[in-house]
Amino acid sequence: MPILVLENIGKTYPSGPNGTVEILKGVNLVMEPSQTCAIVGPSGSGKSTLLNIVGTLDFSTTGRVLMDGQDVSMFDNADKAVFRNRRIGFVFQLHHLLPQCSVLENVLIPAIVNKDTGDAEKRADALLETVGLGDRRNHRPGQLSGGERQRVAVVRAMINNPKILLADEPTGSLDNSGAEKLGDLMVKLNKQFGMTLLVVTHSESLAERMDMIYELSSASLTRKK
Ligand code: ADP
Repeated sequence: MPILVLENIGKTYPSGPNGTVEILKGVNLVMEPSQTCAIVGPSGSGKSTLLNIVGTLDFSTTGRVLMDGQDVSMFDNADKAVFRNRRIGFVFQLHHLLPQCSVLENVLIPAIVNKDTGDAEKRADALLETVGLGDRRNHRPGQLSGGERQRVAVVRAMINNPKILLADEPTGSLDNSGAEKLGDLMVKLNKQFGMTLLVVTHSESLAERMDMIYELSSASLTRKK
């Protein structure tokens, strides 16, 4: 069964006194478990809007989002929040780590929200080790480089073993070498843990590393790879 099915997704915003602006129109996408996919396209074409709809942070005007066979567009806000926390990992362009908390505390926040205090710390340590930050667990975000902070954000996104990781311009704030390293890491984690990976990116090299590439343009999604 596919992990993600987007069926005829449309999104319009009100514009002016009587008009609307159509951001997404008839968008379809199917992802199998462990597949990786990049969404590319010009600024303002609706990539973040689409990712937010997949992540249940926003809602579509038409169509359905099926995750693991469940129609998440029908969930109420409370169910969406639980689903999001347990099944979906998010990585954004900016790391959004809490500056006053250690690396380990930052990584554990989604597990605490999920009331999973069992082996979360062990998992956090193993993941931090995997991303090469095992010796940084007690450091504060301010003591890390931009690339290291973004790696912590990836570990935080993975702490609840999500089925799908959604990343919006994850390398957008990094220099070339930091971006390459983060790309390597995301592919490595995908191979190791098998989470499905959906990435919005302007980086051609990151996009090329994904199994599939789709371009969003004029409100429609077209397969490029
Ligand atoms: P991208 O991620 O491709 O840069 P976005 O998804 O951020 O594009 O935005 C797509 C379009 O939707 C933009 O033209 C933006 O101005 C518009 N948009 C986003 N949010 C709103 C909103 N709440 N109301 C009206 N228009 C919006």
